[in-house]
Amino acid sequence: MIQTRQNLALARRVVIKIGSSLLTDANTGVRMDMVQNIAAQVHSLQQLGIQVCLVSSGAVALGRVHLGWLGKTLSVHEKQAAAAVGQTWLMQAYRQAFSTYDIQVAQMLLTKDDLRHRRRYLNASNTGETLFSAGVVPIVNENDTVVVEEIKFGDNDTLGALVSLMIHADLFVMMTDVDGLYNANPNHDKHAERCSMIHALDDKVMAMAGDTDNQFGTGGMQSKLIASKIAIRGGVASAIINGHEQDVLNRLLTGEDVGTLFLCGTDRHSRHQHWIADLLHVEGQIHIDRGAAQALEHKGASLLPIGVVAVHGEFDKGDCVEVVVGDVVIARGLSNYNAQELKRIQGLASQDIESVLGYMDFKSVIHRDNLVLKIGRVNDE
Ligand code: GLU
Repeated sequence: MIQTRQNLALARRVVIKIGSSLLTDANTGVRMDMVQNIAAQVHSLQQLGIQVCLVSSGAVALGRVHLGWLGKTLSVHEKQAAAAVGQTWLMQAYRQAFSTYDIQVAQMLLTKDDLRHRRRYLNASNTGETLFSAGVVPIVNENDTVVVEEIKFGDNDTLGALVSLMIHADLFVMMTDVDGLYNANPNHDKHAERCSMIHALDDKVMAMAGDTDNQFGTGGMQSKLIASKIAIRGGVASAIINGHEQDVLNRLLTGEDVGTLFLCGTDRHSRHQHWIADLLHVEGQIHIDRGAAQALEHKGASLLPIGVVAVHGEFDKGDCVEVVVGDVVIARGLSNYNAQELKRIQGLASQDIESVLGYMDFKSVIHRDNLVLKIGRVNDE
């Protein structure tokens, strides 16, 4: 497991997410110099026996360029159309650049829906394995044409983190146009310093990320930290590096102090917890009182109906819901009761469930095993 920068030399499988701003130019479309540079660096990593998967943005941005839609506010369907056009330019560029090294590339378009369905997840994961054994570089993007806003990953940083867990990578690297995470905004504060290594991605670290969205990509620093959190909780170290830096991947993987490295802590999610915390669609909210929150956070308890103060949304039994105290989401879990049932039993002791509903399937509203804590505001995005 990666615990120091020197350990990075042990990484055998790496996912590299490349942002749109690195790859695209409003006048010329694909920045071929950058794509060639990435192909050269990936080739060197392969020579060292490292398997590489790319997660590449750029489809929507390239579609805009080639459809003459620059500067225009796009509707969801126009974005999807732009992605469909741009994805062909993107893959053509990668194919051309990698062919210099006789490396085959493969296109994998995924949606969050694919990852939350077990069979599709396994299929995608097995395809990844097969491609790796054939020496191919899988290039993943979100399947933008089939998803609408509310079910999208939201950004390729999150997609990259989820793919890293799916293919059991050792390291997830986000290549962007800044040097890493700074302790203050380097554009406004000349004393801002790059954080070299982050051992715990807590609220203090999250607060360092300002809003650094640019016109091409959707992911700013905040989304990179959210993605890092998904990766490290799943046991995959992560890094943010500047794609404009010479030979930066090789330097990172040989232990040089570039970018920001996020190490995994002891606070890990099982696959089941990962599925609840990061993949399932949230169907509603259960608001609870402070006493119940204490019991969940400090006593390892299940959520009982007596602690429920309000129920929002139209969820069914087994659906994923957020657990909220005041205005803070403290957990996610699978509800044992649907929203209508829960409204009738909220505030009651468990022994009264049967007299109100006529049956009692479970004493708890969310069983401990189906509850994931420490979601905080992070997963509200
Ligand atoms: N899937 C989008 C594209 O390829 C990228 C989303 C993002 O910028 O993170 O254009």
